[in-house]
Amino acid sequence: MAFDVDLFVIGGGSGGVRAARMAAARGARVALAEQSRLGGTCVIRGCVPKKIMVFASQFRETLDLAPGYGWTLGDGAFSWETFRARLDAELDRLEGVYRRLLEGSGVTIHPTRAVLEDPHTVRLEDGGRVSAAHVLVATGGHPVRPDIPGAALGLVSDDMFTLDRLPRSLLIVGGGYIACEMAGIFAGLGVQVTQFYRGAQILRGFDDEARGLVAEALQERGVSLHVGTDLLCLGGPDAVFDLPAGERPPEPEGPSDGPVKVKPTHGAEQVFDAVLFATGRAPSTKGLGLEEIGVRLGRRGHVEVDRYSQTAVPSVYAIGDATDRPALTPVAIRDAMAFAETVFGGKPTPVDHEALASAVFTQPELGTVGLTEEEAREREPVEIYATSFRPLRTAFAERPDRVLMKLVVSRETRRVLGVHIVAPDAGEMIQLAAIAVRMGATKEDFDRTIAVHPTMAEEMVTLREPVRRA
Ligand code: NDP
Repeated sequence: MAFDVDLFVIGGGSGGVRAARMAAARGARVALAEQSRLGGTCVIRGCVPKKIMVFASQFRETLDLAPGYGWTLGDGAFSWETFRARLDAELDRLEGVYRRLLEGSGVTIHPTRAVLEDPHTVRLEDGGRVSAAHVLVATGGHPVRPDIPGAALGLVSDDMFTLDRLPRSLLIVGGGYIACEMAGIFAGLGVQVTQFYRGAQILRGFDDEARGLVAEALQERGVSLHVGTDLLCLGGPDAVFDLPAGERPPEPEGPSDGPVKVKPTHGAEQVFDAVLFATGRAPSTKGLGLEEIGVRLGRRGHVEVDRYSQTAVPSVYAIGDATDRPALTPVAIRDAMAFAETVFGGKPTPVDHEALASAVFTQPELGTVGLTEEEAREREPVEIYATSFRPLRTAFAERPDRVLMKLVVSRETRRVLGVHIVAPDAGEMIQLAAIAVRMGATKEDFDRTIAVHPTMAEEMVTLREPVRRA
């Protein structure tokens, strides 16, 4: 049977765009549908604008440090309006780059929502149908709010890049990547930030020592962090929360543009200019016709796929945040390349997420690869090499900031099982450490490497004695 295209990609984010381009480069006729903006979460409402906001927020620290280095500077003032205009222009530019990359590869772009009608037919919301030999679901994910009264009054991460004005006070709910990054950003921009996290320590799943240091650093930067605290409900500034049992106030229709009153599990009711829910993300897989045609969805709504990204329906594949794989842009991109190689390159290529490094862009950053100390101890006897110290740049200006360099080493094989860094630019450092970990470097390989001096990262090759064995 002749199809209109060899590949139809649903979703124009990092994964979808890469898959479309790679398939086209291998001679496939490709179409792609995107209902919002090309570039997806990473480029439009995630990694890229977030990193630019991190840069914007870091000038405060530079201004704070400058007098310690002999500079006399004015107070400095930040204009959200000026910044927003420049950010919008940059995102428009990047979206244009993505569009040109697709068009230059010969990919047909449909700026609309696409839904599967059968294993080879995609229906476009703006009219028409396209038949495809293969369909790739690359629809990504979206932020979710908890199911509590008034939750709709809260913002989600998507909203943080399009705020009309900077709030004076901001409550952030959550303790994951987004909550911690946003706390650092908005505190740096001069907002009074309060963070509620329901558990005992933020950044669950990361190395315990590293989590502790990031929590301290957030507080040193003015974030009022309350662990073991959650939200019970939200309302307008005059809301009365003590309604009769079982009664819920009417649900608001959308985020508030005025003050929000909250009732926490601990402590008194408080009013904030804005509330941000950074309480996780869910795969965007609803209403795509997937289950109707036999594609299996998991408990979280993610598309179930095998190592080749193939679903239960042989012509339908899925990659990125729509699946249960780590919700990270480079994972989606790598999966896209493996998919294109498998389906259009004649070389079955399973996805490979071994030694996956990532960074949390707090201030300082947390970079991590491999096993945490806690995970490694569960598996085998380990040695821990670690140092925490005051780095020259901030110590010179008499700031108390500390950094952490930590290696988790197998006692049996001597392999470095995990590296954890809390330091300015830890994201840059961990990328390089990940190569060594991926190659199976031993502690002795690290030791044989001569230090680059004076740097913070040199500590990674000069850690002589373990701080503990477990
Ligand atoms: P995470 O899953 O990282 O964190 C969610 C946080 O919200 C956790 O602290 C969780 O608590 C808490 N939470 C979940 N549900 C509730 C609830 N009902 N009430 C109160 N608290 C709740 O999600 P994020 O939204 O921060 O980020 C999503 C994903 O996006 C990340 O996991 C990551 O893969 C990716 N990402 C990566 C970035 C990077 O690479 N730098 C940056 C941003 C996002 P608990 O720990 O108790 O479950």
